Amino acid sequence: MKNIIFVAPPAAGKGTVSNFLTEKYGYIHISTGDLLRDARNNNDEIAKTITELMDSGKLVSDEIVLELLKRCIDNMDKSKKFILDGFPRNIAQANTLDDLFNELNITDYAVIYLDIDFDEALKRTLGRITCPNCKKGYNKYSTELKPKIDGICDNCGCSLITRSDDSEETFKIRFDNYMNETKPVLDYYKDKYKLVTISAKQDINNIYNSVEGVI
Ligand code: AMP
Repeated sequence: MKNIIFVAPPAAGKGTVSNFLTEKYGYIHISTGDLLRDARNNNDEIAKTITELMDSGKLVSDEIVLELLKRCIDNMDKSKKFILDGFPRNIAQANTLDDLFNELNITDYAVIYLDIDFDEALKRTLGRITCPNCKKGYNKYSTELKPKIDGICDNCGCSLITRSDDSEETFKIRFDNYMNETKPVLDYYKDKYKLVTISAKQDINNIYNSVEGVI
């Protein structure tokens, strides 16, 4: 099995596919968005900065994200394969990740681009509901991805919430950020022969099958 990096616009399904791989293959799921959402709960200045940036749809500084990511990688079980969901989001982060992989001697990874257009990503964003406890994501507009009981997490029974950055207005800013900052990362990995493109507009089971073909 390979380590996986997901690069995609907001709401393409990075989290959903990561949950599938974690449950079926025992991957460690590292989502920088989740790390930041946890860090927002600390009662300090950094938490305030993170909250302001995330709620306005902007990227958090590389410095803050890297600090959280490094701490997470230091503590993880290194014998397991991992998924990076939401990192790298710009070329500087991709360069830093190369350095980190060199330090850790990691060469066996694939970068999966989940390809989705603006309209579909917006629709998914507006239907997205998430478990604040176990982080599992659902979509109220999708038959396959709806929770079994409305508003309740199938995994842990907690009440599902709508993320504070999943409004239409914030989505547009996040999508713009993706186009300007993150999209160039695709070419970066294409040049390294690491990039695989999978359409995120297919039925979810077809997406799972395509991803299984890569890992
Ligand atoms: P996500 O959960 O991946 O949709 O990320 C939610 C928000 O967290 C993004 O809109 C950014 O504000 C922030 N974020 C997540 N990952 C990163 C990253 N690698 N660099 C900067 N900001 C990030």
